Amino acid sequence: MVDIADRTLVADAFGRPLRNLRLSVTDRCNLRCQYCMPEEEYVWLPREDLLTFEEIHELVGIFSELGVEKVRLTGGEPLLRKDLPTLVSMLADSPRITDLAMTTNGILLSEQARALYEAGLHRVTISLDTLRPERFKRLTRRDAHVKVLTGIQAVRRVGFTGLKLDTVVIRGTNEDELVDLIEYGKRIEAEVRFIEYMDVGGATQWSIDKVVSRAEILARLEYHYGEILPIREISSAPAERFLLPDGTVFGIIASTTTPFCSSCDRSRLTADGMWYLCLYAPRGTDLRTPLRAGASRDELRAIITSTWQRRYDRGAEQRKELRGRGVLVQLEGLKEDPHLEMHTRGG
Ligand code: SAM
Repeated sequence: MVDIADRTLVADAFGRPLRNLRLSVTDRCNLRCQYCMPEEEYVWLPREDLLTFEEIHELVGIFSELGVEKVRLTGGEPLLRKDLPTLVSMLADSPRITDLAMTTNGILLSEQARALYEAGLHRVTISLDTLRPERFKRLTRRDAHVKVLTGIQAVRRVGFTGLKLDTVVIRGTNEDELVDLIEYGKRIEAEVRFIEYMDVGGATQWSIDKVVSRAEILARLEYHYGEILPIREISSAPAERFLLPDGTVFGIIASTTTPFCSSCDRSRLTADGMWYLCLYAPRGTDLRTPLRAGASRDELRAIITSTWQRRYDRGAEQRKELRGRGVLVQLEGLKEDPHLEMHTRGG
């Protein structure tokens, strides 16, 4: 442990810092993407278990004293959480949080972008897997493509900069749209990031042949644009960034074929206060129970510190080492423990 001013920085068993917290504010979603939530109905977290904004604020405050400086609101669909701008303004008040971002599917953005901006949200990442409305409908089972596009416009209009678009690339679904998405990104001044299809909980239709690898994504783009150069940067961010000949920057998040566990400083807090040290971890640490039982700040800090110091997780690397890699958790297992779902854990 290292004391820096008013912070005590904690490292895990491999020396990785506790720096990055993904905060799932709800397990509900208004889409049913085939790679994440292919079922219509789910076992939802009980309402009374959801952390209040005050509880979230309290926990994030402790995390930030231990080194967390990047917080990302996610879900489920974070914009389904009532009064989200109120939570944003509570978190934005902390000088220790230098990056307060949100990942959203964009459907409700045109209604909420201004309030989120005014509340102090720094950045927005929007998930956009296709530019084709019919394809969007097939992929998500909702007819909402136009709402996503108007949400993207709203984000730009109210003044957000640093917009990112995340695309999960799936063979047979959208691998023919890589160039179109880059061109769209150029037009709206957003950085496009291609995500390899991951075998996370919830991806019950996953198979290795549907993964379009980082190498293939690069080859497809090089075929169209010519030579692509990697951007050398020291960062724990999941996306590797690349440069097209015309100067356009894009990213690839290659968690499936090129995991980045060795620099992973990310952990996840679910809407009901379970803390996960890895997207693939079978179990988490319950922070809600001690919080609601009246644990002091020091006691909570001690739980978080000792849990992080024992962190050996390198889930994506272990998945890659498997022979005959298949679905992580079958539907029955997900029904028994919804915390295994990506949409509960916070993607
Ligand atoms: N609802 C929000 C959204 O759509 O951005 C936030 C939650 S969503 C679970 C966060 C991200 O996880 C999205 O970009 C989504 O595409 C990604 N995701 C979900 N399942 C995935 C999978 N099987 N492989 C790769 N990325 C996945």
